[in-house]
Amino acid sequence: MPVGIRSNSLIAYTPPSWAEKLKNVPTHRIQLGHLNTPVHSWKLPGLPRDVQLAIKRDDMTGSTLGGNKIRKLEFLFADALQKGCRHVITCGGLQSNHCRAVAVACAQLGLKCHLVLRSGLKDVKDAGCEGNVFLDKMMGASLYYVPTKAEYTTELLPRMQTLADKIRDDSGEDSYLMEVGGSSDVGFYGYVEAFHELEQQGVLDSFDDIVFACGSGGTAEGLAVANHLTGSKLRVHGVAVCDDAIYFHNHCNTLLAQVGLTDIRSEDILNIIEGAKGLGYGLSQQPELDFVSEIAMSTGIVLDPVYTGKAVLGFLNQLKANSSVFKGKRILYIHTGSNEGIVLWFSMLVDCREFLERTMVG
Ligand SMILES: *Cc1c(COP(=O)(O)O)cnc(C)c1O
Repeated sequence: MPVGIRSNSLIAYTPPSWAEKLKNVPTHRIQLGHLNTPVHSWKLPGLPRDVQLAIKRDDMTGSTLGGNKIRKLEFLFADALQKGCRHVITCGGLQSNHCRAVAVACAQLGLKCHLVLRSGLKDVKDAGCEGNVFLDKMMGASLYYVPTKAEYTTELLPRMQTLADKIRDDSGEDSYLMEVGGSSDVGFYGYVEAFHELEQQGVLDSFDDIVFACGSGGTAEGLAVANHLTGSKLRVHGVAVCDDAIYFHNHCNTLLAQVGLTDIRSEDILNIIEGAKGLGYGLSQQPELDFVSEIAMSTGIVLDPVYTGKAVLGFLNQLKANSSVFKGKRILYIHTGSNEGIVLWFSMLVDCREFLERTMVG
C-alpha cells in the first residue's frame, strides 16, 4: 500500500513513555478515526466572564464513524482481528452511539456485527428505523432486543455469550465480545492516546481543567490515568449523564487494578460532577432540548440530548454554583459526541413546527 493510503490492517502500537509501565498494553491498533481533532475557543452563552473556554472537537473524529467511541475501537478492533474473530458482539441502549460505531467499523472491516440493544419495546416490530437504529440496519448489523433494565453482568453478558456459542455451533467462527461503551482495559488506550494527542498539540500547559460527558467511564479513565501518569496538573472532571459518582469510581478502580496501578485511587485523580442526568439516561426534558438548540444557534456546535447536551448544561450550572472553584480558570471541554444518528433522532424529539415558527423570517 503506498504511503499515505490507509489499509484496514494492524499497526504496531508503542505507548507514550509515561504509559510504558502499565500492565497489558496493547501491541497493535488500527486506524479508524481522522486524528488529530482540532481545539478552538468556544464562546458559550452564560459563561462567567472570568472563565476561558475552549473545545476539543472529538465530535469530528469521523462522520458515521465518529465521536469518542472510535478512539476506543481502534484498539478493540485490533484485539478482535489479532484473535481471529469474524464476528463482533456488543450491547447498549437502543440509540447507542457505541453500537452504531461498532456496526460501521464491522462493515468497513468485513466483520459480522451483532448488537444486543436495551429497549422498552413490547414487540421487536416496533423497533422502528430511527437515528442510530437506521444506521445500524443500514450497516447490516443483526439486532437483538432486551428489556431496558437488563443488567450487564447477569443478563447482557450471558446473552452475548449464548449468542457467541450459537455462532460457533452454526459456523465454527469466533466472536469478539465488547463491553458496554467499549470501556474495557483495551478500549481504555483510546483516551490514553487522546491525552497524548493533547500533549502533542501543546494544550496541557494552556489549561487548568478538562471537562467531558461520562457515560460508561472509558473516556474518563483514559484521560484521568494519563493525566496522572504525565504528572500534568490538569483537573479532570467527568459529568455523569447516568449512574453516579460511586459507580464511576468503582469502574475506574477496577480498571486501575487491571492496568497495575495499585498505588492510586479513582477518587484522587478524577472528579465526577453529579446533578446533570435529569430524568435519567436517554430521557430528555424540554429545557435540555432548548439548551441544545440555543447552543447550536449561538455557537454552531451541535450537542446531543443524551450526553453532551446534559454535560455542558450540568457543567454550566456547576460553574455558577461553585464559582470559586473555577474562578479565572482556563477550561477545555472535550466534545465526545458523534451526532450522526443521535441528531436524526433528536429531530424527532423536537416539535418541528414550533421550531420552524421560532426561526421563521417573513
Ligand atoms: C458514549 C458517549 C459518551 C460517554 O463516554 P464514555 O467513555 O462511555 O463515558 C459521551 N458522549 C457521547 C456523545 C457518547 O456517545
